[in-house]
Amino acid sequence: MDLRYTPEQAAFRAEARAWLEANVPAEPLPSFDTLEGSLAHRRWEAKLHAGGWAMVPWPREYGGRGANLLEWLIFEEEYYRAGAPKRINQNGIFLLGPTLMEFGTPAQKARYLPKMASSEEVWAQGWSEPNAGSDMAAIQALAVRDADHYVLRGQKTWASRGAFADYLFGLFRSDPASERHKGLTFLLVPLRTPGVTVRPIAQLGGETGFAEVFFDDARVPVESRLAGEGEGWKVAMATAGFERGLMLRSPARFQETARRLVELYRENEAGADALLREAVVRCWVEAEAYALDTYRTVSRLLEGGKIGAEASLNKIFWSELDLRMHETALRLLGPRAELLPAAPAAKGVGSWLDGYLFALSGPIYAGTNEIQRNVIAERILGLPKD
Ligand SMILES: Cc1cc2nc3c(=O)[nH]c(=O)nc-3n(C[C@H](O)[C@H](O)[C@H](O)COP(=O)(O)OP(=O)(O)OC[C@H]3O[C@@H](n4cnc5c(N)ncnc54)[C@H](O)[C@@H]3O)c2cc1C
Repeated sequence: MDLRYTPEQAAFRAEARAWLEANVPAEPLPSFDTLEGSLAHRRWEAKLHAGGWAMVPWPREYGGRGANLLEWLIFEEEYYRAGAPKRINQNGIFLLGPTLMEFGTPAQKARYLPKMASSEEVWAQGWSEPNAGSDMAAIQALAVRDADHYVLRGQKTWASRGAFADYLFGLFRSDPASERHKGLTFLLVPLRTPGVTVRPIAQLGGETGFAEVFFDDARVPVESRLAGEGEGWKVAMATAGFERGLMLRSPARFQETARRLVELYRENEAGADALLREAVVRCWVEAEAYALDTYRTVSRLLEGGKIGAEASLNKIFWSELDLRMHETALRLLGPRAELLPAAPAAKGVGSWLDGYLFALSGPIYAGTNEIQRNVIAERILGLPKD
């Protein structure tokens, strides 16, 4: 294995760095889980797209740069290094985008990908239901075929950024007599369709980007279907592979947190004991290990490999590492950790508390870590189901 970058990759990095340094907003944008913040993030995404950096590994015709996945990793490193805004359309560009590349018709790719790359259309993921979370095969929301339309009935919940999104990609039961994984269909649904109601849900910190979505005889044309009728489970598993195994959480995100953690340690070294020092070092090493492992995954994909059940190992690793890094930061900050950044005695607490609250959800979203452990037990270790 050759871990050095080629001259072309180094040039690509320099170009990305220069553009980001010239264009990343000097002040952080308001949270994308608020209306004001969602609009500011859309404006940022439009700028990113105009500069040609919205989704570097996509073909140019779909709003990308025609780069490969290794260059995407390099871009991500530069993106986090520059402190650029979070991606409001992450469910679109990182999850649905690659799924469309694999399963979409040419017409669907041309229709959806360019507006996804520019975030003119922001996407929400509509899988979970009140009685179908970990047990996703228990999905009950219906898509009943009526000539050249599907008629949607039922409810989805926990749709991240659903309150401000334009579209939802969801799994619906198209064969009412079917059970479990069979008879599910993957549909692309405009949220402004008559019969669709989006209701915001307040999150732990009080913002309302989350949403539950109700369908009361909402009609979508059959062209909104990705892959065949009843093939939704297969498509959704591919999406979940991208989500857990590679794209949703690139290593740069955690390397940047680890770098900030080391900085925080240096600022608070006087009050830190040897155990805390060891915890910081361990977090840093694990973030580097995650990066190396991701380079290995990408090399395998570039040689024609596919993401499989090992995506579950990945998801457990990044979500637990993120939580450990934030817990370590809170220990370093001591009682100050609970102060809001604006409090008079806050003295550089930064966004660690906010980051911690979000890190708590890492072991839950993208499939809980208990479920990932079940997948590893059954599909990687070959253990019996019971
Ligand atoms: C921040 C955040 C963002 C999210 N965004 C989205 C989104 O955009 N779109 C979307 O569709 N969903 C989203 N979700 C929902 C998420 O996918 C579900 O919360 C998750 O799948 C768990 O489902 P549940 O909440 O119904 O919990 P349950 O399935 O009821 O699980 C409750 C507990 O039981 C455990 N458990 C359940 N079954 C088993 C089992 N067989 N073996 C061992 N343990 C088990 C679980 O691990 C968990 O600890 C999001 C969640 C969070 C926290």
